[in-house]
Amino acid sequence: MIRYCSLVLLSLLFFIFFSTEISAIQNTEVNVITKQVKLIINKELGQCITLNVNDLVIVHSQENNRLKVTYKTHTGYISNQSVKKIIPTISLISRKEDLVVRTGNSPIATPAGKINPNLIVNVYGTAAGGWSFINYGDIYGYVPTSSLKAPQAKKMMVSHRDGVIVRGTASHSDKKIGTISNKTKVTVYTQKKDWSYIEGDNIKGYVVSERLKALVVTGNKIYNKGISGVPKKRVALTFDDGPHKSVTPQVLKLLKKYDAKATFFITGNRVQANKDILKAIYNDGHEIGNHTWDHAKLTSLSSKSVKTQITKTNNIIYATIGEYPTVFRPAYGSINKTVQAQLNMPIILWTIDTLDWKHRNAKKTLQYVKSQATDGSIILLHDIHQTTADSLESILQYLTKEGYELVTVTEILL
Ligand code: ZN
Repeated sequence: MIRYCSLVLLSLLFFIFFSTEISAIQNTEVNVITKQVKLIINKELGQCITLNVNDLVIVHSQENNRLKVTYKTHTGYISNQSVKKIIPTISLISRKEDLVVRTGNSPIATPAGKINPNLIVNVYGTAAGGWSFINYGDIYGYVPTSSLKAPQAKKMMVSHRDGVIVRGTASHSDKKIGTISNKTKVTVYTQKKDWSYIEGDNIKGYVVSERLKALVVTGNKIYNKGISGVPKKRVALTFDDGPHKSVTPQVLKLLKKYDAKATFFITGNRVQANKDILKAIYNDGHEIGNHTWDHAKLTSLSSKSVKTQITKTNNIIYATIGEYPTVFRPAYGSINKTVQAQLNMPIILWTIDTLDWKHRNAKKTLQYVKSQATDGSIILLHDIHQTTADSLESILQYLTKEGYELVTVTEILL
């Protein structure tokens, strides 16, 4: 609602001035209002509106101690003491058709632009009525929150001699944000035929999909040791036998806190009851492995039963996260030529057995890691014991302090 700051009549001239001004503005960043403030639209005409705490504005420029901002369709000036910059999160457009972005949080507000399905947008906050304020390229505005969903993350690698150019939108004509060099590992949040949205090397944005390759190790070779990384020391934490309702979420929280990636060897028959937990593991960017259906000792089973153990687990993982597991670990590490012949994934054993399942003692688990950790270690843990979750923070603190990067097993094998 437009109000008058002083007694001046609304004039037609004002509207002409106002509408031409908006289209000439270059968008810069989105801020949130931190204390109620007047948005002065036209000083001479004395026209202003009140902005409330949590309203979102686009900041165009700063002049002395005031900012030029746009709130919905209104552009004007506010004091620079009343806003705070927002770091956006990202979301995926989850729609079959193009999504209309509007200048206000209402289905009848003027369209500000359209965005294609399956693209990633920046999300700055929400507005009344189930709306979110988003940005894609030069388009800023409101979309129904129900049209957005959290994207899934997967690791890939830049695979081109010249690296890859990162752009603000999925378009060759959009501004260049930077370049990521060949062989850099990146996190991919959406992958369309032509363009992928990625994060890597402290840059985020769109790159052409053909310059990315999957980060996988293939074949069915047995790995009982990691491969040393240069120049940084790396270890792979691995968690077996989950997902577990209460322990796995604690493990995920700590891994996130220490910016660590790990590998979870999933037991197929635990997935149905813990689907959300498996999704959370995957969405946090960890690697998913197959650990048989019901923890059977495969070397005592017929070939047919071995196949069932592997396939059933692969299928329930695929049905839950939309990706097959990339690595396999036999229960009890029990493997022979017959079992190996049934597998088309790398078979990952370990180099450090913390025996966490046996002693159930957080201090001892840390001690096993401390006494044996070295570059390329694959550390065996179980995310079904509370004592393992209890030991994890001290393990992460120790490894981080010692300069280790915590990576997935596939990363350690590449
Ligand atoms: Zn196990």
